[in-house]
Amino acid sequence: MRILITGGAGFIGSHLAEALLADGHEVFVLDDLSTGSIDNIAHIKAHDRFHYTIDSVFNEPLVAELVDRAAVVFHFAAAVGVKLIVQEPVHTIETNVHGTEVILRHAAKKRKLVFIASTSEVYGKSADVPFRETADLVLGATTRHRWAYACSKALDEFLALAHWKERKLPVVIVRFFNTVGPRQTGQYGMVVPTFVRQALAGEPITVFGDGTQSRSFTYVGDVVGALLKLMVEPRAVGEVFNIGNVEEVSIRGLAERVKALTGSASEIVTIPYDQAYEAGFEDMPRRVPDLTKIEALIGYRPEVGLDEIIRRVVESQRGV
Ligand code: UDP
Repeated sequence: MRILITGGAGFIGSHLAEALLADGHEVFVLDDLSTGSIDNIAHIKAHDRFHYTIDSVFNEPLVAELVDRAAVVFHFAAAVGVKLIVQEPVHTIETNVHGTEVILRHAAKKRKLVFIASTSEVYGKSADVPFRETADLVLGATTRHRWAYACSKALDEFLALAHWKERKLPVVIVRFFNTVGPRQTGQYGMVVPTFVRQALAGEPITVFGDGTQSRSFTYVGDVVGALLKLMVEPRAVGEVFNIGNVEEVSIRGLAERVKALTGSASEIVTIPYDQAYEAGFEDMPRRVPDLTKIEALIGYRPEVGLDEIIRRVVESQRGV
């Protein structure tokens, strides 16, 4: 099949591109390299079934042509990373909302299957873990820039589901939970690559807040495996799915595991949120997916546990 991945030079997008090529598909990537990197696709650039265009999803004539050629669109181009979102809320909202609007509008003309990358962030401050896809979204005040990301992604979901309802555009919404693996950069705030880099450099490992907040990390290969199965599952259309892992760890616990697994002498330090992000920053205390829905449909079960995820990130940063 011909498949378009917007944001295909990003972290998850580039892993998906690689897997689709390995399965015999023809892959088209559209990426403006704002947070993605040409290095992420350097190893597949020469593949004869791989094509890439460095441009924005705002370039409508180009999007129209690329969507036209594809049977499936994975719309992964977005502003991501809490640090980036807090620093550039205008860019975040415009990229995430307008980009999705353009993709859906053009896909709707030809009824192409579209995957919308959403996020566990949409569950917001809810304490009702594990999060089910049908749960209420509990977002903070609009004066807290962090929530602009969740809100922009929630709007993407509404818009995609509206296209399905009104225009019979087949859409699948995937909510990613803290996906980690080689090629993810810590530049925009992501905690695992940041801790691993700090540990390997012997720098202090920076735990924000008191470190009791927890996350459940998923290996990128598990996420990609789920996407490949959802792509050929007609019953996924019009649905929202969590894709994650249920193994929960506190951020302080994560710092300790990274330190132990790297044999690092780094000290673990705590930094208040207002210093790490901005005054009044609100974090999500816990974030665990309920995987019942995706497991029932495609038999999804994450295979790579946290220690192995950390080991693989360490290996990739060491260049092993
Ligand atoms: N975090 C941290 N130190 C860092 C980067 C992040 O303690 O250098 C914390 C962050 O405050 C959050 C968790 O790690 O509680 C996960 O952060 P990330 O940005 O990776 O993802 P989020 O789940 O917040 O989207």
